Amino acid sequence: MVITDKCPECSAALEEKREGSALTYICSKCGWSVATTDFEPIDLDQTVYSITLIDGNVPSKRKLSALSKITGKNFIECSTLIKTNGVVMSGKARKVIEYRDILNDAELKFDINPHFKY
Ligand SMILES: [Zn+2]
Repeated sequence: MVITDKCPECSAALEEKREGSALTYICSKCGWSVATTDFEPIDLDQTVYSITLIDGNVPSKRKLSALSKITGKNFIECSTLIKTNGVVMSGKARKVIEYRDILNDAELKFDINPHFKY
């Protein structure tokens, strides 16, 4: 089962509740909920990670496209992000994995803080 951060019924944000060995996702808006005992440690990780660019990135169309896709910024803003080693995004582990793949594909150099173990 794939669990996203959003309610499949109304797209509101889901709340996570952990009870014993079960994890329940509840929609605060419409009350939709799902419980699962089949989850991975990463789903319980409440840490908010940030991805920050590091030295050694030369702006190219490919890199700018990747950054634009993640941040929603235009190419000029993404170029500034590269020059200033800016923060690309911050979020929970699942999101970080998704974006890490995009950054790796574009051969961008970056750091994840705090230490990312997945
Ligand atoms: Zn809902």
